[in-house]
Amino acid sequence: MTHSTSAPDAAWQDLTRRWQDLADLGDIGSLLGWDQSTYLPQAAAAGRARQQSLLSGLHHARATDPEYGKQLDAAGRRTDLSPEQARMVEVARKDFEKATRIPASFVTEFSRHAGESYSAWTQARPDADFARMVPYLEKTLDLSRQAAGYFPEFKDPLDYFIEESDEGMSAEQVGQVFSELREALVPLADAVIGAGAPRRDFLAGPYPRDLQLAFGERVIRDYGYDFTRGRQDLTHHPFMTRLGGADVRITTRVKEGDPSEALYSTLHEAGHALYEQGVAEAYLGTPLGGGVSAGVHESQSRLWENLVGRSRAFWAAYFGDWRDTFPAQLAGVSEEEMYRAVNAVSRSLIRTDSDELTYNLHVITRFELERQLLGGDLAVRDLNDAWHAAYEGNLGLRAPSDKDGALQDVHWYFGAIGGAFQGYTLGNVLSAQFFAAAREAHPNIEADIARKEFGNLHGWLRENVYAHGRRFTPNELIERATGRPLSVEPYLAYLRGKYGELAGL
Ligand SMILES: [Zn+2]
Repeated sequence: MTHSTSAPDAAWQDLTRRWQDLADLGDIGSLLGWDQSTYLPQAAAAGRARQQSLLSGLHHARATDPEYGKQLDAAGRRTDLSPEQARMVEVARKDFEKATRIPASFVTEFSRHAGESYSAWTQARPDADFARMVPYLEKTLDLSRQAAGYFPEFKDPLDYFIEESDEGMSAEQVGQVFSELREALVPLADAVIGAGAPRRDFLAGPYPRDLQLAFGERVIRDYGYDFTRGRQDLTHHPFMTRLGGADVRITTRVKEGDPSEALYSTLHEAGHALYEQGVAEAYLGTPLGGGVSAGVHESQSRLWENLVGRSRAFWAAYFGDWRDTFPAQLAGVSEEEMYRAVNAVSRSLIRTDSDELTYNLHVITRFELERQLLGGDLAVRDLNDAWHAAYEGNLGLRAPSDKDGALQDVHWYFGAIGGAFQGYTLGNVLSAQFFAAAREAHPNIEADIARKEFGNLHGWLRENVYAHGRRFTPNELIERATGRPLSVEPYLAYLRGKYGELAGL
């Protein structure tokens, strides 16, 4: 007999109770973090740090309890579990290994080093002094290799870091996807930029903050974001956080002199939140109760931000409301001009300010440098020169100072070298692959969007991606949902179609 909730015996109940406790402890920690980024009074920071460290200690103790390990071993030997239950045990086992194989003393050493490196970086970056960071980065690289060394089943240390965030993918697979992508993107970006920049003067505003926020919230309500199970607040860096199965929150930031900032941050984070809000109820509080990987998660934020939110159909639906909300700022501006303004492409030195088309070239550059560093093909002292050479090759730009060169992103100065970036571009690639599959199932999706009707798209994504949580590996999920493995083709077709038309190529 097979049914999805077989074996509700005492041992299984014990295990599920542990999982619910682990999920609750994690969610409470997220609540403390959310509060710290939104409303925590300044003077309360030290007390909050103490509370968070207490809580993460409790979580770690439970997550690494040897008794729990024995229960997982026993569950792993059972032959009477349903496929869902077997996958729960498999995912829990992975999480357990991750938490137990790296010694606590190593975690403490790495986090002390990360703190020192971060604080040195906050000084070295304004001084554009890369040389000062070389000894820190050398130690970071060393510690990163050591961390990967606790998982000798990965021959390439980068494979270990990729597995951490994008299970089942490898440096080789990602490298292949990225080199295909670069080959196509470099000439495409050249041609689009060469065709000239659209008008953007009317975005300078000022656009009143409250009206911007209300507008974004109206759109994500239309998308299907459930405000009875979430809310939006303001933070310096926008994010999505899950505080429980029925509490998935987002944050945004508002600039009066550029309304695209708040709107697209809101649409981006709402995409992450739609994913989390759509996980099947039966999986909540179990190891399957969340998004499956960095790449698949980012695909949902990008899909709702870019494939929907920066489309012609979107502005056909919303330009009237937009102009009614900001009549003075948009006097004499057409729907077409608005559409073009939010899709402007330009060369930029800063990854986080870059557009849909060139963003990937920033990510590919970092991924390749990480790969060379971890593989021993590039010495830390040569990283800065390699950075400038790679930017000239990939983006046709050279940073005037090292401040916006290898010192630019915080990632390498506050954590391991490896695995921090590839998920962003995998997400872009996958966003188009999922969207194309949804459109195959519902050929009228664009016409739907143009009338603010998102039910078919949201329903398809919920059924084929969101509901499954971590039930399948990322590669399995992609293949089940789209009928084929990860492929750059749909993404390149999307970019060529969209930007070819915009630039009149
Ligand atoms: Zn994101």
